[in-house]
Amino acid sequence: MKLIDGKKVSEEIYNDLKIKVEQLKQQGQKVPHLAAVLVGNNPASQTYVNAKVKTCHEVGYGSTLIKLDENITEEDLLKEIYDLNNNPEIDGFIVQLPLPKHINENKVIEAIRPSKDVDGFHPVNLGRMMLNQPAFIPATPMGIMKLLEAAKIETQGKHCVVIGRSHIVGSPMSILMAKNSYPGNCTVTLCHSKTKNIEEFTKQADIIILAIGKPYFLKKEMIKEGVVVIDVGINRVTSTTTKSGFKLAGDADFDDIVSKCSHITPVPGGVGPMTIASLMYNTLLASQKNIYK
Ligand code: NAP
Repeated sequence: MKLIDGKKVSEEIYNDLKIKVEQLKQQGQKVPHLAAVLVGNNPASQTYVNAKVKTCHEVGYGSTLIKLDENITEEDLLKEIYDLNNNPEIDGFIVQLPLPKHINENKVIEAIRPSKDVDGFHPVNLGRMMLNQPAFIPATPMGIMKLLEAAKIETQGKHCVVIGRSHIVGSPMSILMAKNSYPGNCTVTLCHSKTKNIEEFTKQADIIILAIGKPYFLKKEMIKEGVVVIDVGINRVTSTTTKSGFKLAGDADFDDIVSKCSHITPVPGGVGPMTIASLMYNTLLASQKNIYK
């Protein structure tokens, strides 16, 4: 069994990005600049946004954090987005989700200029991804593709079972794994909460990508020998071995399945670190006008 080390792969990406930033500085060019919009005081959202801003500093990017009141009107939020779209200093920006209930998330995402949509959530980017055109790929799926590449996982002709169909992970992942290029060319089955007898699919899978938010869901009776398991889940579970009384667990029962896997991502330290690394990579692409010329 081989552990796919997302922390190591993400550090390699950061080292490449730092070199790129140094080169830009030496050439007297502008460094990439990411802005993040945070609405309200959701503690998880604050943590995610702070981690993104901190990573910008670490790789040498410019960053702008725009904190807005929980009660901001949709119209005022759209004005902020309009300003970011038209600010030449900002190469790319994200609006941290979820947004307060009175704001229409789709309307906000659609207001982001696709060439600055480094989260890759805009319908234009998702459509371009689907059509095999240059596009910003959502960060978590892109991170998973980079992990598969780094671990040299064979994908052509394999059966990949994706569990979970969210717009940010499962659905784009299923499209990417079926693409006519590496790491793709899989036969893909997309499972979700209404799938009957899910183990009939997981038992046939060469690669399983799990993104459901259910701790310890995947057990050894559900998989075949030699499977590759990519565990996206991040679940807080109670623990008697940590000071806080909590620990993070994936959607797979790691200890139960590990001996049957050829490769597996740990939680934490697997897919998680790749998400911000991919966002940083997208921001570089945005600053270099690589996707939208
Ligand atoms: P989500 O929007 O809550 O979607 C969950 C998906 O799982 C849905 O499609 C749901 O089916 C399906 N599902 C739920 N229970 C199931 C079951 N028992 N059997 C089969 N399918 C089931 O989730 P998400 O945003 O994609 O996140 C999933 C997990 O990944 C969470 O733990 C989240 O914290 C984690 N995550 C991690 C990262 C990272 O950077 N590592 C990034 C994003 C998310 P229906 O569509 O039928 O409801």
